[in-house]
Amino acid sequence: MDSVGVAAAAPDAGPGPAWQSKCPWGTPSTTSISCSLADVMSEQLAKELQLEEENAAFPEVVAAAEGPFITGENIDTSSDLMLAQMLQMEFDREYDAQLRREEKKINGDSKVSISFENYRKVHPYDSDSSEDEVDWQDTRHDPYRADKPTTTPKRGFIGKGKDITTKHDEVVCGRKNTARMENFAPEFQVGDGIGMDLKLSNQVFNALKQHAYSEERRSARLHEKKEHSTAEKAVDPKTRLLLYKMVNSGMLETITGCISTGKESVVFHAYGGNSATEDKVIPPECAIKVFKTTLNEFKNRDKYIKDDYRFKDRFSKLNPRKIIRMWAEKEMHNLTRMQNAGIPCPQVVILKKHVLVMSFIGQDQVPAPKLKDVTLSSEDMKKAYYQILNMMQQLYRECNLVHADLSEYNMLWHDGKVWLIDVSQSVEPTHPHGLEFLFRDCRNVSQFFQKGGVAEALNERELFNAVSGLNITADNEVDFQAEV
Ligand code: ADP
Ligand code: MN
Repeated sequence: MDSVGVAAAAPDAGPGPAWQSKCPWGTPSTTSISCSLADVMSEQLAKELQLEEENAAFPEVVAAAEGPFITGENIDTSSDLMLAQMLQMEFDREYDAQLRREEKKINGDSKVSISFENYRKVHPYDSDSSEDEVDWQDTRHDPYRADKPTTTPKRGFIGKGKDITTKHDEVVCGRKNTARMENFAPEFQVGDGIGMDLKLSNQVFNALKQHAYSEERRSARLHEKKEHSTAEKAVDPKTRLLLYKMVNSGMLETITGCISTGKESVVFHAYGGNSATEDKVIPPECAIKVFKTTLNEFKNRDKYIKDDYRFKDRFSKLNPRKIIRMWAEKEMHNLTRMQNAGIPCPQVVILKKHVLVMSFIGQDQVPAPKLKDVTLSSEDMKKAYYQILNMMQQLYRECNLVHADLSEYNMLWHDGKVWLIDVSQSVEPTHPHGLEFLFRDCRNVSQFFQKGGVAEALNERELFNAVSGLNITADNEVDFQAEV
């Protein structure tokens, strides 16, 4: 056995403490850090600790006073970092271009095509990309000017006497860092720099590593965002199936298109079919209200349904998906009550899960305009006002309901009269916030008609009393609301 080889290899193979005590370059000083909870949570500290760890793995040469070593401390690596990032960006672009070529080659003229988009590295729709911040003038140095690659032999150093070079040497270390680049993240492409004689300083290496990780996370986040947004614009597969079944059963003739995409629902127009199974007559034109199954928007509507005693028992036991079905159910029940009281509103055709089919207010696929979009003669305006006053009273007394989202946005003008829609959030007056909602409705209505020039329009407090039959006398708004 080669005794020299064994002796040289020994320091490397030895256990930590023994190696440290024997290390000819001195023991890396272990700094003890005392810190507060805030420090523990700080990202800055995390970075520092990470750096410290890395530096412990590659201790800087201590005896640098004289000798050929480059200490690394006074070398400006910031432009290296910039270069590295720019190269990565350039590489990402090339990678994407290659992907596109492959995609094209595979797809050819085929009608069914596959997409590699999810594998792309550069995301044009990402607005927080930092690409614009790069100063291109910094590319004047040629990073590919390769030195001949040299390796450190097993014994850990080369050269003699003053010209000795250890594995902690800046250059060697840099090469090592380059090689380690390959292990950043499984999906992160680092290019063919590994094959070249690139030397990455610890600082650049760490920054690149950090970049690789955050890039991966950003990429994942973007895909998520994209999937999400498509789900919001169109209809998800389960809903599509529901709609398909409605057409297939003959209940609907055709679904022609989308009338409205709101925060909480998408409304479609459809021509009614003549279903054999349904005993009800299907209206010639229908509106299909699909309650959105993306849950975010409904969170802030909890208060409407949570305190509605009609749904109280069920609310706590339900998962969010079922709660959304409950919105649809609520709209159906409320519309039925209104229908029974003779209030002009869509007539319920059928409810399936989160999809409510009702009669269409409008004609030939053109929905009736909202009150806010239509210009009425002063005669019609006055007529509309009295009709609404009447409807609000009916709603309150006969239906035992408060609309809770009444405004010119949810009233349609059709056939010379006002139709009420959008009643999924309507509650009974005994709801803990019922009167509060009613007051808000009254304010919307009286403001709209006062602005619209209806001199007879009651103010919000008068309207509130007229609708509720209560007699709150406070003459300023604050007191009035307090009494409400
Ligand atoms: P959202 O909760 O999204 O406001 P709405 O019930 O108000 O839901 O419906 C959104 C829009 O769809 C309405 O402003 C109206 O233009 C249209 N719409 C809803 N239902 C009907 C219907 N039955 N007939 C005609 N248009 C309707
Ligand atoms: Mn609405």
